[in-house]
Amino acid sequence: MSRIAQAVRGALLLDFVGAMGLGFKKIFTRKATINYPFEKNPLSPRFRGEHALRRYASGEERCIACKLCEAICPAQAITIEAEPREDGSRRTTRYDIDMVKCIYCGFCQEACPVDAIVEGPNFEFATETREELYYDKEKLLANGDRWEREIARNLELDAPYR
Ligand code: SF4
Ligand code: SF4
Repeated sequence: MSRIAQAVRGALLLDFVGAMGLGFKKIFTRKATINYPFEKNPLSPRFRGEHALRRYASGEERCIACKLCEAICPAQAITIEAEPREDGSRRTTRYDIDMVKCIYCGFCQEACPVDAIVEGPNFEFATETREELYYDKEKLLANGDRWEREIARNLELDAPYR
């Protein structure tokens, strides 16, 4: 066997031993991957997921139809129509978010004076059609009802930093 062949063989053997060593080492280190969707990573209280409209504990809508969220939205994804109720309070008659346009900047949540529109913790809302991503008030309020506990907890945790 020539010297060159011997050198190549030696190098390959070293590579093999190194790879085996690395393999064994990785067996005993913590996994970097998870078995999604059965396992999920923890989310920050500031995570900006699917939008929701919240209610007070009494069931009344928080939104006072000030339209600040609509005005600040850089993607012009929010459309609001409003009118006064018989009791003099002002409430929305239409609250739509085009989730296809939304860039998840969180400005709507930050602008809202009553914590009505929020980006909740849900990130699993993929759809099969574009139409399903045109959210109306009913859908947003249903999201709020579904995620209220997690949303309230996240807002409380983040409150000292706001
Ligand atoms: S997260 Fe940003 S882009 Fe999306 S609706 Fe709110 S303000 Fe608009
Ligand atoms: S969600 Fe908040 S910011 Fe938007 S219209 Fe209602 S009260 Fe105003």
